Amino acid sequence: MTAPAPGRLRPVIAIDGPAGAGKSTLAAYLARCFGFLNLETGAMYRALALKALEDATPLDDEAALARLTEYTQIVLEPRPNDSNRVLLDGRDVTARVREKDVAQAASQVSVHPRVRAWMVARQRAMGAQGGVVMEGRDIGTQVFPDAEVKIFLDASDAVRGQRRFLQEAQSSDAPSEEAVLAAVRDRDARDRGRASSPLEPAPDAVLLDSSAWTLEQVCARAEELVRAKIFT
Ligand code: C5P
Repeated sequence: MTAPAPGRLRPVIAIDGPAGAGKSTLAAYLARCFGFLNLETGAMYRALALKALEDATPLDDEAALARLTEYTQIVLEPRPNDSNRVLLDGRDVTARVREKDVAQAASQVSVHPRVRAWMVARQRAMGAQGGVVMEGRDIGTQVFPDAEVKIFLDASDAVRGQRRFLQEAQSSDAPSEEAVLAAVRDRDARDRGRASSPLEPAPDAVLLDSSAWTLEQVCARAEELVRAKIFT
């Protein structure tokens, strides 16, 4: 059994990977299994991106985005069996941040080192006590490099595009499967290619590829991993 890192009461489970790999489903499942809080860090980048869109702050202007963070408060409220409730300066933006324009804008604001530093400081504070499943792109590499469990969840482009398409097919303005795949690829290329904390597995992460598995199978495998690592 791995003891929690010094200063932490309970372990941290870090889940990273590209869009559509199944991270949210897995994070919610593990949080339920172990009674941990589930924190979706992507929602924080989305909330800042929404504020930038509303303020007409250019998404490529790092200094202006850094100024924006100085008067921004983002709160994630974990909810049982649901995605995090997201509060931007006290306003509930949970549904709005899931929309496509905000997702693309989030991937643009997230390339800037000063934005990332601001996010990472807040995410470390949120998980400082442990007892969290934190999901994102840089949790195992930057936010909690000492996380007790690190999982990097991947899947082929085609599978990730199809999963996102099925999720979005329920909305009234559902795009084509090709358009969804193109958007997912575009975000991934930016996440993997950025100079600051690119999306990549931590050297000590367990790699799971969910292309040929159902999400139920991925969850069962990850649960075994966590039990072996921190509860045996
Ligand atoms: O996970 P989600 O799709 O909500 O993330 C939205 C965007 O936020 C990602 O495409 C990525 O650019 C950025 N992100 C990040 N680091 C994180 C979480 C999300 O750069 N830890």
